[in-house]
Amino acid sequence: MNVDKIAILPGDGIGPEVTREAVKILQTLSEIDSTFQMETKEFNWNSDYYLEHGRMMPEDGLDQLKDFDAILFGAIGDYRVPDSVTIWNLILPIRKHFQQYVNFRPVKLLRGMESPLKQDNPIDFVIIRENSEGEYTDSGGNMFHGETREMAIQNTVMTRQGITQIAEFAYQYAREHGLTKVTNATKSNVVVHAMSFWDRMVEEIADKNKDIAYEKYYIDALAAYFVQRPKSFEVVLASNLFGDILSDLGSAIVGGLGLAPSGNINPSGEFPSMFEAVHGSAPDIAGKGIANPMAQIWSAALMLEHLGRRDLHDAVLTAMEEVLEEKKVLTPDIGGTASTVEIGDVIAGKLKKIMG
Ligand code: NAD
Ligand code: MN
Repeated sequence: MNVDKIAILPGDGIGPEVTREAVKILQTLSEIDSTFQMETKEFNWNSDYYLEHGRMMPEDGLDQLKDFDAILFGAIGDYRVPDSVTIWNLILPIRKHFQQYVNFRPVKLLRGMESPLKQDNPIDFVIIRENSEGEYTDSGGNMFHGETREMAIQNTVMTRQGITQIAEFAYQYAREHGLTKVTNATKSNVVVHAMSFWDRMVEEIADKNKDIAYEKYYIDALAAYFVQRPKSFEVVLASNLFGDILSDLGSAIVGGLGLAPSGNINPSGEFPSMFEAVHGSAPDIAGKGIANPMAQIWSAALMLEHLGRRDLHDAVLTAMEEVLEEKKVLTPDIGGTASTVEIGDVIAGKLKKIMG
């Protein structure tokens, strides 16, 4: 029997609150379905840990994580520690070291949710964002030649390998999910060096996958189309910066941060992939027990799909949709009065009915 080894990093603020409910759902699944067995280990590497030890994780932290099959990450951020410290010393080293070069973000309007747009179901596409290079590269500098001539340069670094591997992932995902089109987000009309190269590399992969349609839009127009005709997208392929911005827009058109999941994926399987809600530690509501755990439960479902259990992923989404459709047990961010724990309990109950 295969036992999935899952590292749990609850983090700060609402991170532990929503992660507890996601683990509750995983445990429920392993009780219902004897073919899904897991072993979890919790790592309390967060801002408290930093204040005690002067670092976000132990020196051998990455080594401690490397043999897990996946990582479920809460969120970090605490007013006592600069955000740059928490992010650059925990999340980014994990993404980089484990070559999680795919940032995967579904944009799906679940049954029972209403979009702020005049759109009915289905809004259902995925954003596949390059997660390791591009515009988010620590390369550049500031130059001071006297006040009036002060300047800064920030370099974008795009490599053949980096672009090719993310484009290949997008096409492979489309194929495995029976999708028919990949949309490339670009700006090669103005950012002529980096984005023209991006387009050329993406189009080499598109040419090898001619059975799947390819289209290309400039990022500014594409942002407008997300609002005007979100139904027309299936797989949106984007660079690091463009994908970051499109992801938040995507989450806004399907119900907000309480329902936005993500995966940081290492497709080779050589290293663990990491799954986390898009939202942060939400200090304004932390400790009140009212955070919506659905984004984190959905992230755990993405983890299950990554571990080869698309059936369990689908069951979790169906259970969430039933809860959303009934509109009886909802957290305040989506118009209800229920607590974080109640959402976990009601989804677990639905799963027992669906699968039991
Ligand atoms: P945030 O996502 O934490 O909160 C933004 C707003 O959305 C807040 O009003 C919050 O209450 C609400 N919200 C977020 N998640 C919610 C949920 N599950 N249910 C209900 N409401 C929810 O973003 P922020 O306020 O910009 O950042 C707070 C801290 O989180 C900062 O320290 C930031 O650096 C950190 N952060 C961490 C990550 C991460 O760990 N990957 C991501 C984003 C922000
Ligand atoms: Mn972002």
